[in-house]
Amino acid sequence: MVVGAGLSGLICARELRRQGLRVQLLEARDRWGGRMHGHTCGSGLRVDLGGQWVGATHHRLIGLLEEFGLARYPTFYDGEGLFHWRGKAHRAGVEHDFHSSLLFFKPQELGLPESEVAETLALQARFAELVKQVPPQAPWEAHDAEALDRISIEGWLKGQGAGELARYPIAWLSRVGGSGGFEPHESSLLHLAWTQAVAPQHEIPEAYLVEGGAAQVAARLAADLAGDLRLRAPVEAIEQGDGGVRLSLGCGEVMQAAAAVVAIPPPLRLGIHFSPALPPQWTSLLQRSPMGSMVKVLAIYQRPFWRERGLNGLGIGPLPTLELTVDSSAPGGPGILASFIAGERAVRWQRLGEAQRRRAVLDDLATWWGPQAAEPDDLILQNWNEESWSTGAFTSFVTPGAWTTYGPIWQQPHGRVIWAGTEAASRWPGYFEGAIEAGLAAAAQVRGLLGGGPAT
Ligand SMILES: Cc1cc2nc3c(=O)[nH]c(=O)nc-3n(C[C@H](O)[C@H](O)[C@H](O)COP(=O)(O)OP(=O)(O)OC[C@H]3O[C@@H](n4cnc5c(N)ncnc54)[C@H](O)[C@@H]3O)c2cc1C
Repeated sequence: MVVGAGLSGLICARELRRQGLRVQLLEARDRWGGRMHGHTCGSGLRVDLGGQWVGATHHRLIGLLEEFGLARYPTFYDGEGLFHWRGKAHRAGVEHDFHSSLLFFKPQELGLPESEVAETLALQARFAELVKQVPPQAPWEAHDAEALDRISIEGWLKGQGAGELARYPIAWLSRVGGSGGFEPHESSLLHLAWTQAVAPQHEIPEAYLVEGGAAQVAARLAADLAGDLRLRAPVEAIEQGDGGVRLSLGCGEVMQAAAAVVAIPPPLRLGIHFSPALPPQWTSLLQRSPMGSMVKVLAIYQRPFWRERGLNGLGIGPLPTLELTVDSSAPGGPGILASFIAGERAVRWQRLGEAQRRRAVLDDLATWWGPQAAEPDDLILQNWNEESWSTGAFTSFVTPGAWTTYGPIWQQPHGRVIWAGTEAASRWPGYFEGAIEAGLAAAAQVRGLLGGGPAT
């Protein structure tokens, strides 16, 4: 039995079936895909409301795209982007070597004070050294792990005596940089360093986009599993005993299997009643693993008009609502700016009424790309925090101290209950690639548990 038909659960179920095991995939929502979620606009244009980019080294995902004959195209980085700082837009080209860049920009082109840029790059280099010390499989074994885990990212940044500009890129990484959705005071330096060790920005996680949207991958996997996939089937309890598991669904139905793979975001595991109960350290780790706060914004225009001014749509900087915009237009298609409201910005934004929410987003789009940007043909605001089967995005993070206190149990199964979901991956957790890795790893664990035996 596999719980959760996101990418990880879909891959796990497919792999188990390929190994000749009988498998049922149970999904709480009335759709498959989880955080891999497509949407067709009124115009017929297909977009991703969840994840969309394919990384240059996301080999498993690239393999799936090839298997399904789905084409990808490079993200548009030609021309110059804008770094907003102290009320001014600074134009600069993209530096493809992340370590030499200031948040992806060529630092020397930004026109910022040389001493501040030098200080920023020096602090970035100090952080990169820390990242190298973190073992991807076991962050709690890093040199000085306890000290790194007990200090918040913000605390560390303050302690470096660096100025505002130098502190910004590392704070930005926690909010929008892949790990995503948390403020620098909410997690530890060890956690942020670990996210960069396992999912390095310098490997370009936003290298490609998928023609027609990444969510087609979930649709293809779900179609193949058709008869074995049940929607509107939230799992509420998992009981183990007598060599098997019993899963209770929301509708009261009980299903039996030899093992269960749970492929859902970590904090949602707390919503399942386990019997025997999860070991207390597992519960404690989950209680310290909230989801990030994240709203995805897609602004759609007749054409990517910013390109006509030599701009590439990459906007980064501490605007009130949108701290990042990226050109996501397909070649020859309409103009699309993808953007995110992350961390406390998302928390503040979701307190607003609908009209104010739109206004806040449009005001920032105009600040980034001019008045034309405030008049999109379509504006999509997808708030992942209010999705009760996700409760946030991009992924979960852990609070200070959690890795060193509870970390070693992170991937350990609970008897016949095996964990999948992107957060269980050792490489690219939080991304599609991690979801695939974790799904495959869980299938291998089931196989080991059953020794080639009966149904799951
Ligand atoms: C806005 C956004 C942007 C992103 N950008 C990118 C990107 O560009 N590139 C990238 O690689 N990644 C990106 N990601 C991350 C990526 O989407 C996820 O890492 C990946 O899709 C997670 O897959 P999963 O199967 O692990 O989890 P999920 O997709 O969360 O799937 C879990 C499933 O379990 C179901 N479920 C939960 N509880 C229960 C229950 N009790 N019973 C039954 N079912 C249950 C849920 O409904 C869900 O369908 C982004 C995510 C978001 C939201």
